[in-house]
Amino acid sequence: MSRETHVTVLGLGPMGQAMVRTFLAHGIHTTVWNRTASRAEPLVAEGAHRAESVEEALSISETVILSLTDYQAMYDILDGTGLAGRVIVNLSSDTPQSSREAADWLAERGARLLVGGVMVPAPLVGTDAAYVFYSGPRDLFETCEPILRLLGKPDYRGADPALAQLFYQAQLDVFLTSLSAYLHATALLASAGVSAEAFRPYAADNFDTLSSYLAEAAQAIDQGRYPGDKASVAMMGATADHILGASRDAGIDLALPGAVKDHYDRARAAGRGKEGWASLFEVIKRSA
Ligand code: NDP
Repeated sequence: MSRETHVTVLGLGPMGQAMVRTFLAHGIHTTVWNRTASRAEPLVAEGAHRAESVEEALSISETVILSLTDYQAMYDILDGTGLAGRVIVNLSSDTPQSSREAADWLAERGARLLVGGVMVPAPLVGTDAAYVFYSGPRDLFETCEPILRLLGKPDYRGADPALAQLFYQAQLDVFLTSLSAYLHATALLASAGVSAEAFRPYAADNFDTLSSYLAEAAQAIDQGRYPGDKASVAMMGATADHILGASRDAGIDLALPGAVKDHYDRARAAGRGKEGWASLFEVIKRSA
């Protein structure tokens, strides 16, 4: 059978299950295997084929998708199996460096790795909202692309295996830090009895306008020039000082505003007070 009509999925957590259901909905012959075999049962009832062993799962499809907790699980499952000629599409999350090491480990065993980072929660897999970052050999991506497209819009980022996980982590960096900032601001207002619901429209407006600052910031960062005519480090740094002071007065957690103030302190100490706020990038891009 061709790659377009047959795929193997190893790992049947919420994400792996969503992938299998998506493939089945498109009429793809889908072989599954999971360490805890019982997790395959509902999928078998829906039309998936359960392999009795990893070896069988590998032998049935040339393209093998991994949806596991991390890359260590890949080694736990694949070490000692016959991998020559296999295409491993690892859609598990881990560090970018772990993707590079996995590419080398698989190459030593005659297999090739395409790395992916799924950018939506499991229930959205296979919907128009889904997109997935990929990296690794371009020819491999192009060969697998027709079947991977079923999971979500494929976004190929380059040959370095680390790139998919770098983009994945970068997106979650923005996401998690923004959510913590929102929760911190909510706690600041809660200290004066303001409800989260009362703050919600203001926070929503703030999130909605934030992206409008990015074009100018990205241009400044890429050019390494930070005109400070609009919002200087000195002005924004004073604001960071005030947020930390307000948080201290409110008796709430200081870690997040303390980290932001530290960026401004170091930029000011480096003589960047008159530059634009995006020059904090020069401070942030190196470990303190
Ligand atoms: P789970 O942790 O629920 O499932 C992980 C799978 O990995 C299970 O099949 C589990 O097997 C298997 N596994 C873990 N460790 C081992 C091991 N040492 N040996 C063999 N199998 C192992 O994760 P999800 O399904 O939620 O997610 C899978 C990947 O997708 C993760 O990397 C996650 O970060 C990523 N992801 C998930 C999203 C989501 O919405 N769930 C969203 C975006 C990305 P067993 O059943 O036996 O425990």
